[in-house]
Amino acid sequence: MTIDRIDRDLCNSCRLCVFTCPMDVIRMDADNVKAIIAYPDDCMLCGLCMVDCEKNAIFVGADRNPPLITSWG
Ligand code: SF4
Ligand code: SF4
Repeated sequence: MTIDRIDRDLCNSCRLCVFTCPMDVIRMDADNVKAIIAYPDDCMLCGLCMVDCEKNAIFVGADRNPPLITSWG
């Protein structure tokens, strides 16, 4: 269970998703320019990265409905 993809063309390298992900799934690529799904097995589909991404660059397939978390803890 994981997010499907991060669109490299849309990603503006802001790193918000890297800092937001509570499971440390997302990292920057080797060139430190674009976000990548580094540890897909750890994703719990919380949806936080998608909410934070101002470029709407993070996608989940229509067959999966991430339970959007509006508060943490
Ligand atoms: S929040 Fe969106 S635009 Fe920013 S680094 Fe992540 S995928 Fe890229
Ligand atoms: S959906 Fe949640 S756990 Fe998965 S990559 Fe995004 S912030 Fe991390």
